[in-house]
Amino acid sequence: VYLLQGTFTVPSHRIGSHQLVPVSPRENATFFSLVRNSELSDMLRSIKNVEQRFNRHHHYHWVFANNEPFTKQFRHAVSSACSGTVEFAVIPEKYWKYPDWIDQARAAEVRKEMRRKHIKYGDNESYRHMCRFFSGFFYKMEALQRFRYYWRVEPDIEFRCNIAQDPFRVLREENKVYGFTLTPLELHTTVETLWNVTQEYASSYPERIAPDNNMGFLSDDGGASYNMCHFWSNFEVGDLDFFRSDAYEHFFNYIDRKGGIFYERWGDAPLHTVAVSLLVPYTKLHYFAGTGYFHAPNLQCDGPNWLLEQNECICFASEDSAWSGGSCLTKFFDIHRLERPEAAPTTPY
Ligand code: GDP
Ligand code: MN
Repeated sequence: VYLLQGTFTVPSHRIGSHQLVPVSPRENATFFSLVRNSELSDMLRSIKNVEQRFNRHHHYHWVFANNEPFTKQFRHAVSSACSGTVEFAVIPEKYWKYPDWIDQARAAEVRKEMRRKHIKYGDNESYRHMCRFFSGFFYKMEALQRFRYYWRVEPDIEFRCNIAQDPFRVLREENKVYGFTLTPLELHTTVETLWNVTQEYASSYPERIAPDNNMGFLSDDGGASYNMCHFWSNFEVGDLDFFRSDAYEHFFNYIDRKGGIFYERWGDAPLHTVAVSLLVPYTKLHYFAGTGYFHAPNLQCDGPNWLLEQNECICFASEDSAWSGGSCLTKFFDIHRLERPEAAPTTPY
């Protein structure tokens, strides 16, 4: 009953069950974290921060996923830190392995070559399984099936402001599919052929491309080349029904078959970005301003001072990288002629 949207929920472990203190109504939503046992401390810091800045008012559920079983110590410590219910899920092997069309020797050669070129994570095999999992499988996890929305949280992240509005509620009320904060540039050495494949997809399946899409965000030369803009997926709040749709499934399978996840190092961030930019109108995408979101080396700290103060932000506009030169956010607002949110500066820094 407590999970029904619009009902008042009671954090029963904090108050007597006779005291019906209403907290915010919850959406049909959960946090989602993919994490290793070795990252327990970093995960705990993320949880404590998310709880303090947001979830203590909501007590949303939290799903933790791992390609290996979580240790008892991990489960115990994490359960104590979360104010809502918690679930630990082991990723089925079929979501964390080479598909049979991948030539593993060729993939190993690529890793060697990328190591020689010092490309970040270029020689890392498990990183690619992680990227493929986030691209094509996380939303298929049993633990997520009963939910409509997810909010991805990584270890070692921080929100330096209170999250006053419920992002899940924003997505539902405004009928959005995907919410983001930071929009940096991808390393071009990791996505050499992604744009060709994207173009090929768009021309093979024009009926699958949304009118009013966000493709203009991804190219500065009318589609000839990719400008490396992407939504940084270590923070994302999204509609699982979109990822579970035929539209996304078809797109992912096409991309997956091309092999660039292993033969290059296509990340889930550019893949999610291309998908939501291609398959849904740009009006389905939402920028969450003023959260103070930090994942090294980028920080969002936008908004007028009064709002930063109101939300108890521990960051300064001078540190913001969301609207800075190496970011694509200004482009997003400009190409769609969107009014900048209240929490955005009126002049670029
Ligand atoms: P970066 O943000 O691109 O530098 O990559 P991270 O190292 O932060 O990895 C992204 C996310 O995937 C984080 O939530 C990690 O905890 C998680 N992750 C990465 N590799 C693995 C892995 O091999 N196993 C598990 N369980 N989680 C992983
Ligand atoms: Mn990370």
